[in-house]
Amino acid sequence: MYNYAMTRQAVFLSSPELWERGHGPDHPLKPERLQRTHELLEEYGAFTTPNVRLVAPRPATDEELALFHKEEYIDAVHRLSEGDPTVPARRYGFGPGDNPVFAGMYDSERLKAGAALQAAELLVNEECDVAFSYSGGLHHAGPDFASGFCIFGDIAVAIHWLLRQGLRVAYVDIDVHHGDGVQNAFYDTDQVLTISLHQDPRSLFPGTGYVHEIGAGRGQGYSVNVPLPPYTGEDSYLWAFRQVVPPLLERFAADVVVTQLGVDTHVRDPLASLALTTAGHEALFQALAELGPSWLALGGGGYDISVVPRSWTLAFGVMAGQTFPEDLPPGYQARYGGRTLRDDEIIRLERLPPSWLHAQVEKVVAVVKEQLKL
Ligand SMILES: [Zn+2]
Repeated sequence: MYNYAMTRQAVFLSSPELWERGHGPDHPLKPERLQRTHELLEEYGAFTTPNVRLVAPRPATDEELALFHKEEYIDAVHRLSEGDPTVPARRYGFGPGDNPVFAGMYDSERLKAGAALQAAELLVNEECDVAFSYSGGLHHAGPDFASGFCIFGDIAVAIHWLLRQGLRVAYVDIDVHHGDGVQNAFYDTDQVLTISLHQDPRSLFPGTGYVHEIGAGRGQGYSVNVPLPPYTGEDSYLWAFRQVVPPLLERFAADVVVTQLGVDTHVRDPLASLALTTAGHEALFQALAELGPSWLALGGGGYDISVVPRSWTLAFGVMAGQTFPEDLPPGYQARYGGRTLRDDEIIRLERLPPSWLHAQVEKVVAVVKEQLKL
């Protein structure tokens, strides 16, 4: 396993342009998630150490988006973004609710895809060991439709680009929702290993990610799903992760490890029902850091605004080998409230006994290992 204790050259891809536009005031994917994460890292001085670079992202071109998306869809997003009423929005997954059309969405979303590509380029050019494009991780988008808050699939675009460089890619998705868009994009290839740990699809969007979804054709055995019962806490989660992810990554021998770091597994997340804490997230980020020397980290879900900036700050701390004071910086506290970097209160979900839940997790992991002959 990779020794992450050495200092990594780390890049954080961010600029205020990323939070200038959003899906609307009542939408859960608030741009403030990005702004506050950037501010928290900045106020902790994370961007001032010699091994860290803050890089402003560039937008993806239509040609780059077409690595994954259909040209017709890219054009439709562009025209919807400019208010063209003749575009059949619903045909492309847009409408009130999860995926509203908003002014400027083409520029806003292609910037996130560009950030992922830029992160991939910096890694391939050996300008860094880890790059964190925290505005991305949009794992539900399809080739010709928006889904689950995701318009352009930055992950699938970046992985396609990495494949064109002749690289083998392992993808690990820890968002509470199944990474369906990425799994579907690479379901029949053995050049990309996709692994998703998520809440049981019987109880959560998008309703896929069962253990029996293992890939097709040459890709059989290269799609891996670990669905976890609602209320699973970090001890069982981390146990399942360690049983499945490191041995698979060892066997696959990827050139680049791509991770989707959704933090909607947190116990306070309003959209889902797993029960991790920020300390659990940190342990998970450390486990991910050990998977390989070249790490393309992307953001993802996370809808409790007090949690997301703290968890992603812990993530970047792991990537860059930084530790931050436990007290949140005074300015940040004054603006947004909160006191400590890790959770200062432990919320317990006593709805199901942990031993019963762990037994369910053991059953899932046993099936996964049996299928993959692990
Ligand atoms: Zn999610």
